[in-house]
Amino acid sequence: MTEITAPKSSLTSGEFTDEIREQLKYTQGVTPEQATAADVYVATAAAVRRHLVDSWMKTQHDMVNGDTKAVGYLSAEFLMGKQLENALLNAGLTEQFEGAMKELGFDTKDVIDAEYEPGLGNGGLGRLAACYIDSLASIGVPAFGYGIRYQYGIFKQEFDENGKQIETPDYWLVNEEPWGHVDYNRDQRVNFGGEVVEENGKRVWKPAWAVRAVPCDYMVPGYKSGRVNTLRLWTAKSYDEFDLLTFNKSDYLDAVIPKVEAENISKILYPEDSTPQGKKLRLEQQYFFVSASIHDAIRVFYPGEKNPDLTTLPNKIVFQLNDTHPVIGIPELMRVLIDEYGYDWDTAWSITNKTFNYTCHTLLPEALEVWPASLIGELLPRHLEIIKKINEQFMSELKAKGVADDQIERMRIYTDGKDASVRMAYLATYGGSYVNGVAELHSELLKDVTLKDFSSVYPDKFTNVTNGVTPRRFIKLANPRMSDLITEGLGTDAWLSDLEQLKGLIPLADDPEFVKKFAAVKQANKNDFAAFAKRKYGFDIDPNTMFNTMIKRLHEYKRQALKILAVIATYADIKSGKVDPDTLVPRTVFFGAKAAPGYYLAKQTIQLINNVARVINNDPATKGKLHVYFPWNYNIELAQNLIPATDLDEQISQAGKEASGTGNMKFALNGALTVGTLDGANVEIRERVGAENFFLFGMTEPEVSALYAKGYDTKGLSREYYEKDPQLKQAIDMVADGTFSNGDKDTYKDLVNDWLNKDYFMTLADFRAYMDIQAEIEETYRDPMKWARMAVLNVANSGYFSSDRSIEDYLERIWHTGALK
Ligand SMILES: *Cc1c(COP(=O)(O)O)cnc(C)c1O
Repeated sequence: MTEITAPKSSLTSGEFTDEIREQLKYTQGVTPEQATAADVYVATAAAVRRHLVDSWMKTQHDMVNGDTKAVGYLSAEFLMGKQLENALLNAGLTEQFEGAMKELGFDTKDVIDAEYEPGLGNGGLGRLAACYIDSLASIGVPAFGYGIRYQYGIFKQEFDENGKQIETPDYWLVNEEPWGHVDYNRDQRVNFGGEVVEENGKRVWKPAWAVRAVPCDYMVPGYKSGRVNTLRLWTAKSYDEFDLLTFNKSDYLDAVIPKVEAENISKILYPEDSTPQGKKLRLEQQYFFVSASIHDAIRVFYPGEKNPDLTTLPNKIVFQLNDTHPVIGIPELMRVLIDEYGYDWDTAWSITNKTFNYTCHTLLPEALEVWPASLIGELLPRHLEIIKKINEQFMSELKAKGVADDQIERMRIYTDGKDASVRMAYLATYGGSYVNGVAELHSELLKDVTLKDFSSVYPDKFTNVTNGVTPRRFIKLANPRMSDLITEGLGTDAWLSDLEQLKGLIPLADDPEFVKKFAAVKQANKNDFAAFAKRKYGFDIDPNTMFNTMIKRLHEYKRQALKILAVIATYADIKSGKVDPDTLVPRTVFFGAKAAPGYYLAKQTIQLINNVARVINNDPATKGKLHVYFPWNYNIELAQNLIPATDLDEQISQAGKEASGTGNMKFALNGALTVGTLDGANVEIRERVGAENFFLFGMTEPEVSALYAKGYDTKGLSREYYEKDPQLKQAIDMVADGTFSNGDKDTYKDLVNDWLNKDYFMTLADFRAYMDIQAEIEETYRDPMKWARMAVLNVANSGYFSSDRSIEDYLERIWHTGALK
């Protein structure tokens, strides 16, 4: 075998400059004098790719020819963020790039900023997939990320003059996209519709239509591993350009309908909670990428074989199902094995069972996908037959195990009857080897509540892998100053691929010199963010205030409402003279959040936050003491800029609702202190950083359950909290009386109604505890050395939350494979 090509760190800046010049000349067709920052970005990307190609090919070769099992990470979302800086870092070309930009007369920042951020994910789930493929490559595990190359990613968010969210399409492919390599020669045919007929005693699927799945490959370079994996995103193409007969009759638009319909499949990323109308297209998307990926894996691992021995498939690749979106892959592999390769049912089942595992990402029942059987039957009639048969086999297996009839009935994968449906989470749990939750608390609740019936029959299937984030992007790139300080403190930068080494900072928390430097880094980051926000949003932010941040998707369970009610309460106290503003720690509150376009209460909350910001920021009474900013279009770029500048982050979801969270990890690793509930990974973060370095408040999950049992949401108990707490009452009354809607009392009436009559996520019940913890936060913040020391300890003890550790856990507990030799 040939040697692994290590990153060519021996390359000089001069040589790299020449390579960029060559790309500018031969690919862009411009001279360095004519080139814009965008040209230089494209040329640099092309130059970096050239440096990765050898390692990429070598990795693929070793993957197919070695005896290490590969990982196929099937995910409907990959929220990658901008690629250039990350690729330079992992390829070991950062310094050469900086030198080259000097030589060419470009600002590195302008060139990096010229990249358009691809938004092929909604939030945490998509970002997790991106962190995991980074870690897989960095550890040296051969892997494919498999997904969809949506033409339009998550919408671009703007606010109108009333503070309402406006969604505009995010056409990320406006300009040249230099990273993807479209490979028309490795396409796959994906069939849909039609019927199943009996032929020679066999069930044969006669599909009605097909789309062409064309892969676009992105190199995924590992950090200092010399390995480069592949993110393979599929685009849907029509086999027919247009119908010439129709075209000749001058029905030009009708002629392209089949093409448009086929290509719609990879047109747009769905928001988290889809509308029923969108369901069909969503199922088409899921089947499209999963079917193409399974066939692709067989092509890759059995090159050129007409009759491959697919009983060895589980030794070649293991598929991880990132939530329920790719679960249709289970009946699809069954179908491929039986119908396309002639295996009997039992052999096919054994292969399928060993090949798949399922990660559950939620506890919210509405997020566990259930498909109408009629829809599956219409699009995938053969799969529906297979699902029914899997269900029958499952029922008999349960009966044989002596499971009670009522429990068996509850566990049905396929529910009979008029509204027959297919429960994808159940199919995944039965059809794969392992099921994991994404934080300890979440995995426990999965076993004890959501999938209790399953864990009682198959206890060994259930395991936990706590989420993680990549330290390369979320520490090194996002926070270069702190990274340098850590390296200085530890005397090495090896922590970047072994994050537990951050523990070496623990003694430095008692070194005043180090703590002072740490505080100075935070201040410099805050100054930077103020400048960034001025440039990008026109905000005038005072960097000498506490930066208090809540950035995440807008959802009722995450409780942005709790935060904004607390802000309103403080504002009201200042206005009424109850609180002297000079006694408060000056604070700047940041929100960043997109709401799903059809999610009404979430959109009202956005409007409320914007108008609270407008009123407070224009009121002389709070000037310099309390300000609220809502930078629009929260994305990875904003996360990378705001997290390192944050003093206090908000992780205030209702206990038992946030599966894990990964934002919380990014903040702890960047030296922000957290105010949070005992929810998701907060529990484990607090355990590690120490209870004394975490601002805990609010009900626990058992307390939440007990309050539901009393009828909190059904009997309108929230109103009692409102009546009994004057501060809460005043805050809600101000929302209702038009203070934040130019006197209009109707603007937020549905939001107020919900708070007072339902409040399913118990915002009102946790309000008092949330206000009470603020005194402790303020007292701590007044002692800058104490605060900074706590921040150092947060960083030092959060190494566990590296996605490298998560991947090691997957390798050990679920995938049973490892790095290439
Ligand atoms: C990390 C991240 C998320 C997830 O945040 P949570 O607070 O865990 O919900 C969402 N969106 C972006 C852009 C992120 O970087």
